[in-house]
Amino acid sequence: MNNSSYNRRIVNDNPWERAREQLRRAASYLKISPALVERLETPDRVIEVSVSVQMDDGRTEVFRGYRVQHNNIRGPYKGGLRFHPKVDMDEVKALAFWMTMKNAVVDVPFGGGKGGITVDPKRLSEGELERLTRAFTRELAPYIGPEVDVPAPDVNTSAKIMQWIRDEYSNVVGKDSPAVVTGKPVEEGGSQGRTEATGLGGFYVLSEMMRITGRTNRKATVAIQGFGNVGSFLAGYLKDAGFSIVALSDSKGGLYIPRGIPDLKAVAECKEKSGKLAGCYCIGSVCDLSNMESLGGCDISPEEALELPVSIAVPAALENAITEENAGRIQASVVLEMANGPTTREADEILDKKHILIIPDVLANSGGVAVSYFEWYQNMHGETWEKEAVFGKLKEKMDTAAQAVHAVSKEYKVPLRDAAYIVALKRLVARS
Ligand code: NAD
Repeated sequence: MNNSSYNRRIVNDNPWERAREQLRRAASYLKISPALVERLETPDRVIEVSVSVQMDDGRTEVFRGYRVQHNNIRGPYKGGLRFHPKVDMDEVKALAFWMTMKNAVVDVPFGGGKGGITVDPKRLSEGELERLTRAFTRELAPYIGPEVDVPAPDVNTSAKIMQWIRDEYSNVVGKDSPAVVTGKPVEEGGSQGRTEATGLGGFYVLSEMMRITGRTNRKATVAIQGFGNVGSFLAGYLKDAGFSIVALSDSKGGLYIPRGIPDLKAVAECKEKSGKLAGCYCIGSVCDLSNMESLGGCDISPEEALELPVSIAVPAALENAITEENAGRIQASVVLEMANGPTTREADEILDKKHILIIPDVLANSGGVAVSYFEWYQNMHGETWEKEAVFGKLKEKMDTAAQAVHAVSKEYKVPLRDAAYIVALKRLVARS
């Protein structure tokens, strides 16, 4: 995220305030007790820790770490850990709240939690990153556990980091506890399909929503902001299903090829090598700027990806990507929210007025936590499922969730976001 978009985020929108407002709005459609609304407006527990780490040059640096346990009415707290320079308490609270709602929408027996460390992991060596992760785990150990709170990957946290957490936690409690985190490497008790799950789940939800609303993917064009875990897998599944991926961006910039990016794998390899998407114009194995003209492409800024003349715009990076400043420029007829909290309240209203179908984050990106649940279940029961079985169960979960949210949106005559919250609140009420 560049500075201008970050400043915009501070000025326009506090994600935690927005999350509470979304809650109150959905609650107003239902006769639920004020006590439950109040409980959901307040996280169960907020943990903030200092983490001291010895750096490679011998200095000690101190980082701030957070874990918010929002609500456990439906089961253990569950949600990712984010390592990013902009992580702060309000962001983590909002993300934890959205996990409570998401886990209820996709109907897995978990509550909501989230955590993170304010750090730019790209400036750490692997050793420093491991020491930071292990020190943070020791601070969190009294509050997490397979039946208490189960972290997972999020922005800038990987399977390897999850494995360090599992190992350190197991050392602290004196017994191997694979189910304390999900998103582990498959050979260390991770589930088949977890890496792909969020992108694939988004693809299933989009496909089901398009089927229900009578849209076709024939000639559908897609622009994706964010080409990390979520954006890259989603792009691949969409392309395989016949969608034309015309634009991709990451934090440094991106590319737009109106007739479709011919080879996503080559682009991914180019980004891996060069550290950025910009310039990854690939013909065969040759990827560079010299191919831009023959592909009919052009460079774009990270933000421009969402403003192109496409059928489907996908924010798959960070919060507040669509604000009142740029919402008017969105030309897509569908916005698939793969990032958490990508659309501010004001932007939501602008998109609604333009009759843009917003498939909300708590539905669109819930595939990750669905497979996290499958991983946790396999660990708790000593089972190992094949990838096909995982994907079959994931599709069932995503289709069912999409159908439930769409049905409620028709019943209450509300946008899909409100409908998703209503579905979630009804399920939370049933357990409270
Ligand atoms: P990631 O770290 O793998 O990738 C993030 C991507 O966003 C990177 O390509 C980065 O360059 C890009 N980016 C950052 N700022 C940008 C900007 N201003 N413009 C364009 N691109 C920018 O993270 P991820 O796991 O892919 O997560 C992406 C989003 O999806 C986050 O909001 C995360 O909370 C959400 N999410 C992730 C999962 C999961 O399973 N990983 C599950 C649910 C939701």
